[in-house]
Amino acid sequence: MGNQLITFLLPAYNETENILPIFDAICNQMQGSDYSFELLFIDDGSQDETLSAIRSLAINYKFVKYVSFSRNFGKEAAIYAGLQHAKGDAVILMDVDLQHPPSLIHELIEGYKEGNHQVVAKRNREGDSKLRTFLSTTFYRFMNQSVNVKLIDGEGDFRLLSRKAVEALLRLSEGNRFSKGLYEWIGMRKKTISYENVARENGKSKWSIGQLLNYGIDGLVSFNTKPLRLCFYAGAIIMSLSLLYILYSFISILQFGIDVPGYFTLISAILFLGGLQLFCLGILGEYIGRIYNETKKRPHYLIDDTNIMRSEGERERRIYHES
Ligand code: UDP
Ligand code: MG
Repeated sequence: MGNQLITFLLPAYNETENILPIFDAICNQMQGSDYSFELLFIDDGSQDETLSAIRSLAINYKFVKYVSFSRNFGKEAAIYAGLQHAKGDAVILMDVDLQHPPSLIHELIEGYKEGNHQVVAKRNREGDSKLRTFLSTTFYRFMNQSVNVKLIDGEGDFRLLSRKAVEALLRLSEGNRFSKGLYEWIGMRKKTISYENVARENGKSKWSIGQLLNYGIDGLVSFNTKPLRLCFYAGAIIMSLSLLYILYSFISILQFGIDVPGYFTLISAILFLGGLQLFCLGILGEYIGRIYNETKKRPHYLIDDTNIMRSEGERERRIYHES
């Protein structure tokens, strides 16, 4: 297994004070390893000193690579860019905020040696806020009932991917990426190891509750068309119930004549049906929006600066920023 290369894929958004610690931690862990390694930082359009911190590392260590985006494109885009630019025989995805304990690197690599294509580090939810834990567990419960790939709570981006798994993920080039689902979608031999949740030390999490909610909807919609089907059934059931009700009222009108106080039933029917229609339109809109985005075939990200040169042709396609 000697002479294999491991790429550490490190998406970073406003993480100035974490760049050096993660660099040190990884180097420490890899000391004496029979694998060579590279660090691939993806600077996701940080507004602070993240990029200069990475650059000064890259000047001193040639195994430090970076790709810097022209603006913040989000972690999913950063991961995609990282997978595209990684040269390793295996890629280890890690957050730079040290919430993914570097001490697990050995176990991840062991799993790879055993012939797994994905080695996943799974965390518990110790120390997360109650609201967040509740939202997440509900999300997973709901997701797994409606989606055709199985998602596991606590299994995130912290994982090792073999070259084969990386190539598979790159073939899924959709614009609305939902990595958690994609990892499951590709399948392949997988091993899971567990670790205790770690709280973030420097900086703060970039996820607000609203963003998490959006992320949840993305996951739900990008992995199935069942919500559309749900619309269909709900519509059908409500339509037949209303038909029954109309028939019933009609017969009772024939028998007893019209009575005035029909206001309550009328207004509730209008409100309920109106709500249902809006809801279904919303679901349709989600899908149409996605179709719209996919048909534009926009790139996932734009590169502003990088120290990776793959081929001359590629160089020309990149937007360079002289500095
Ligand atoms: N990140 C990124 N782009 C973003 C948001 C986050 O590349 O738009 C990176 C961030 O720098 C970190 C990782 O993704 O390395 C996880 O982010 P964060 O710690 O904010 O998420 P959490 O751990 O709270 O899920
Ligand atoms: Mg974090």
